[in-house]
Amino acid sequence: MLAKKLQQYRSMRDFAKTPEPKGKVTTAGNTFVVQKHAARRLHYDLRLELKGALKSWAVPKGIPTKYNEKHLAIETEDHPLEYAKFEGTIPAGEYGAGTVKIWDAGEYELVHVNVKKGIIEFKLHGHRYKGTYALVRFKQENNKNQWLLFRVKDKNEASNPS
Ligand code: MN
Repeated sequence: MLAKKLQQYRSMRDFAKTPEPKGKVTTAGNTFVVQKHAARRLHYDLRLELKGALKSWAVPKGIPTKYNEKHLAIETEDHPLEYAKFEGTIPAGEYGAGTVKIWDAGEYELVHVNVKKGIIEFKLHGHRYKGTYALVRFKQENNKNQWLLFRVKDKNEASNPS
């Protein structure tokens, strides 16, 4: 099951050349990571552990911190769980060439999830990012990998975080 999930990820990479993990560990957990990825275009990769892999999005503008910010999040292939610990340089010419740094990491809680319908609500317990977020997939058939990422107000939060 995991191997099938990671088929696309593996097919896009030459593990003889890239230091990225091939992927093998299967555990049930609730890890998230945000990786700052200085690729051809700088972006932040948000990854949430879901069913034995890291469900992943590339977020060009980064994780929103204010309630009125909606950032485009482009769904990418599932990554192996070990990728949550990955930092390093993907060599020139390889997929995603550039430097990957862990920007934030920690645990998260799933508040509500329906991947088929394109809704994931989750609460991050990171160092930079704390609070509830929603990912909502675009409805249009040709935008199936595009989601919007935004903050959702927690019951006990009255105003924008600083
Ligand atoms: Mn990336």
